[in-house]
Amino acid sequence: MAAYRRLIAGNWKMNLLRAEASALARGVVEGLGGGQGLAAEVALCPPFTALGAVADALKGTAIVLGGQDCHEKPSGAFTGSVSAPMLKDAGCRYVILGHSERRHGLGETDAMTAAKMGAAWAAGLIPILCLGETAAERDAGQTLTVVRRQLAGSLPPGEKALVVAYEPVWAIGTGRVPTEADIAAVHRGLRAELVKKRPDGAAIPILYGGSAKPDNAQAILAVDEVGGLLVGGASLEAKGFAAMARAAG
Ligand code: PEP
Repeated sequence: MAAYRRLIAGNWKMNLLRAEASALARGVVEGLGGGQGLAAEVALCPPFTALGAVADALKGTAIVLGGQDCHEKPSGAFTGSVSAPMLKDAGCRYVILGHSERRHGLGETDAMTAAKMGAAWAAGLIPILCLGETAAERDAGQTLTVVRRQLAGSLPPGEKALVVAYEPVWAIGTGRVPTEADIAAVHRGLRAELVKKRPDGAAIPILYGGSAKPDNAQAILAVDEVGGLLVGGASLEAKGFAAMARAAG
């Protein structure tokens, strides 16, 4: 029996206008009967502009809201950025940090991610800290070295609430998924690191992310130490995403 509640989080990325986001959220709510009584917690992470619409659609349900990134500072002259207190104010419980599309697409470093982690904690948000190797790093046998290094560099000291997501970069949006044995090896390696780093290390959910879909969710969720899923593309379809959430037990 795991020492934590599993989490199924949908990362909607830069998709959906407010009306579409609201309709998708309502579809997920309907598909999960409001989410009350589900074994897993379910979070929806829309783009910033749709947070308000999705928050309205989730009112009175057990499904929670998350942001996709935040700035390291609480406020100030940072044109175009959104702060952790703003996400909290919009009703978020979670914030995705260190996603590979920010690390590799926008050059965000471990140190930048660590600063955002501190900001998220200070605002009372739970960060979903993403880690994962590129295809080249995997081919070089460096997977565990890379995720350990990312964890060491992007997790500040402290014991505030945390979710980790293992997301191999080469699996995101590609339809390619590591073998169950590979997922298990990385999750076990991350668990060992978390237990070394924090007294609550055994109780931190470690999600898997990367081309998780309704037809592979159950098998991935059955892998040792998989504490839930971070779902990109497949979270944009309500019925399938609800089925993935139900597959978590
Ligand atoms: C993601 O971007 O976090 C993700 C897991 O994407 P996808 O499910 O589309 O691979």
